[in-house]
Amino acid sequence: MARYTGAVCRLCRREGMKLYLKGDRCYSDKCAMANKAYAPGQHGQSRKKVSEYGTQLREKQKVRRIYGVSEKQFRMYFEKAERQHGVTGENLLRLLEQRLDNVVYRLGLASSRIDARQLVRHGHFTVNGKKVNIPSFLVKVGDVITVRENSRKSPKFVAIADAIAHRNAPQWLEQDKENLAGKVIALASREDIDLPINEQLIVELYSR
Ligand code: SF4
Repeated sequence: MARYTGAVCRLCRREGMKLYLKGDRCYSDKCAMANKAYAPGQHGQSRKKVSEYGTQLREKQKVRRIYGVSEKQFRMYFEKAERQHGVTGENLLRLLEQRLDNVVYRLGLASSRIDARQLVRHGHFTVNGKKVNIPSFLVKVGDVITVRENSRKSPKFVAIADAIAHRNAPQWLEQDKENLAGKVIALASREDIDLPINEQLIVELYSR
């Protein structure tokens, strides 16, 4: 399935919670969830009984939308998570956290994951000194992510340099706010992932 290109606030309304897809707007009173906190569409405000399958499906869709990955990519992450040692659901979330666009966002170098994906695609970052423009690139422990020298002077990164003072990275990442850079010092543990996700529902969905 192609990547969703419609109005992103509809996704939050569909999932019934803020997914923080629009950066600063999500923290303002312009957030669609502030005045239209019901599902979009004609029947959005009617109450429906959700089946077990429906609950599992919604959880999967929610996580997929938070990280902005396609159905096919998500399935690939799940299969990879299953092959790894440990708890499949936790492995899945860890893999999603390892994506370069997520790491850029977590380091405060973009206002949202969507913003981060675009900045990565436009080639504004290096990993260990080499330009990487693939949002799905999986970082590993020890990798150093930096905004490229030429990009730092752009108005976008000047604004990010101001905003980063108020953005703190999770403990598995080391921020270098002054140099608009960061280092992966560990892989994310489940406790590090501060999102309201029940990953077990996704495991159950794919085990059907
Ligand atoms: Fe979701 Fe952000 Fe839109 Fe609010 S402003 S509905 S949190 S994407």
